[in-house]
Amino acid sequence: MANTPFELKGKSVFVAGHKGMVGGALVRRLAQENVALLTVGRSEVDLRDQAAVFAWFAKNRPQVVFLAAAKVGGIIANNTLRGEFIYDNLIIATNVIHAAHVNGAQKLMFLGSSCIYPKLAPQPLREDSMLTGPLEPTNEPYAIAKIAGIKMVEAYRSQYGCDFINVMPTNLYGPGDNYHPEYSHVVAALIRRFHEAKLSGITNVVVWGTGTPRREFLYVDDLADACIRLMRDYSGDELINIGTGEDITIAEFARVVAAAVGYTGDISFDTSKPDGTPRKWLDVSRLAKLGWRARTSLEDGIKLAYKAYLSEHHG
Ligand code: GDP
Repeated sequence: MANTPFELKGKSVFVAGHKGMVGGALVRRLAQENVALLTVGRSEVDLRDQAAVFAWFAKNRPQVVFLAAAKVGGIIANNTLRGEFIYDNLIIATNVIHAAHVNGAQKLMFLGSSCIYPKLAPQPLREDSMLTGPLEPTNEPYAIAKIAGIKMVEAYRSQYGCDFINVMPTNLYGPGDNYHPEYSHVVAALIRRFHEAKLSGITNVVVWGTGTPRREFLYVDDLADACIRLMRDYSGDELINIGTGEDITIAEFARVVAAAVGYTGDISFDTSKPDGTPRKWLDVSRLAKLGWRARTSLEDGIKLAYKAYLSEHHG
């Protein structure tokens, strides 16, 4: 049914979500691949609008689709905007996957998230632990929408023979991240908070939760590189985790960010804020078998992300 390696060269490639952190990294990485890149702005096509998406696909008929469009955010955004997180992510997935199928896309990659795994699944998280137990409640609406997208890809592979694949990235960071003080993810939040404390001479920075949860962080350009590799070399029903294979506590992580930013004051913990899932360390052995591993160390990646923050926000 499917041929690997799948040649990208010369193909029309649609990156859905090119303004986001992941889509932006895919666009940067695809610049090395000699493809005809297709993107579309939100004002032109709102991916939640089925008629607009179907019309755009019928007109442009991309041969390859990276589905990196999603409503995303950190633990408070996920837990507060629960309706938006389930609706936007469900409808974007159904519109784009179906339109890709109807318009004959040769290959599609759906990007999920490590939060689709059960809250208390054995660590490191293996791909086959999906749907074996209850989810982390703070991000359940997002996770359910992503699981629906994954199952849709599986069903379209099975019924229609579509060469569509699912990948599950760990927590991501890097250029193009969202630095909203409340709704961002932890990396962007701490880069901003330590930077602002350094500038204003504040000597105590507050980190949410107990500091004990563990997270794995992948630099987004490494993710994009893995996605290109998998698009080329992988075709199968099984999900593929994308991560570094290493995790760190939030307390230790805060010290890595403080060092990169040059903040030397104290760090304290606000335990009224949620910890979320205790750990989501990905088993990356499937990806390793394909010969791929992350290149950017956490220390280097955070320095690069801080540099990007400075140029995006203070350049
Ligand atoms: P999660 O992996 O879905 O929980 O996403 P986040 O990146 O939002 O949070 C990761 C962990 O960092 C959680 O345990 C948070 O409580 C913790 N954390 C500590 N400080 C912050 C912060 O300022 N913002 C966010 N979003 N999380 C923080």
